[in-house]
Amino acid sequence: MSEPILELRDVHAGYGSIKALKGISIKAMEGEIVSIIGANGAGKSTTLMTICNIVKATAGEIYYKGQCINKVASDNLPSMGLCQVPEGRRIFPRLTIEENLDMGAFFRNDNEIADDMERVFAMFPILRERRRQAGGTLSGGEQQMLAIGRALMSRPKVLLLDEPSLGLAPLIVKQIFDIINEINKLGTTIILVEQNAKVALSMAHRGYVLETGNVVMEDEASKLLNNPDIQKAYLGE
Ligand code: ATP
Repeated sequence: MSEPILELRDVHAGYGSIKALKGISIKAMEGEIVSIIGANGAGKSTTLMTICNIVKATAGEIYYKGQCINKVASDNLPSMGLCQVPEGRRIFPRLTIEENLDMGAFFRNDNEIADDMERVFAMFPILRERRRQAGGTLSGGEQQMLAIGRALMSRPKVLLLDEPSLGLAPLIVKQIFDIINEINKLGTTIILVEQNAKVALSMAHRGYVLETGNVVMEDEASKLLNNPDIQKAYLGE
């Protein structure tokens, strides 16, 4: 059995007296899509922010490619291949699409940055069309594409996605998830946090269910999809 590319072991984290994660253990094997589902406030976003050391783990360890990364500054993680697309996208609204994409490659000094931008444009043709336009003028769906494109510019080995479907029309959601699948097929491991549990589990290999800061269930995604308790609580069935 190979090592997980990312592993959280009994991780605790929170905000002052609020304990948002109460000892969670989660792992992702290279090449997997792992979905984390749960209700509002379950701790999904906190999980991703703790992996990236934006929120500090107060106990437990986070391993990436076998190395403990608890103390690695969040700014250094993209250059190691671990990149997050945060909830709400957080693109740079005044910078152009091209400049936003360049920001994703800020630590790189190789000569393949332009090729990678071409690849992003091939994936999201609308971004090529608008490349000299300010990021803030894009629609919500286009901004999500830009945020994913910017992350791809760092050549991630593991991509953390926080609610990529939030606030988007169903047709756009499908487009975004098709692209996420494609990115995974090209070799990137994906950790997907979603309220849209049905879609998130449909595309994942495995899934975790978070409730008030604890992992209450983990299984192959297809088994979670067919589990009557999950169907009742999270899939609206
Ligand atoms: P949602 O789907 O609504 O985004 P979530 O599962 O991502 O929810 P988190 O955002 O991780 O949940 O929140 C976990 C807990 O931590 C909640 O009780 C939330 O109120 C609390 N929390 C989150 N961010 C902060 C913060 N900046 N300060 C204080 N408490 C916070």
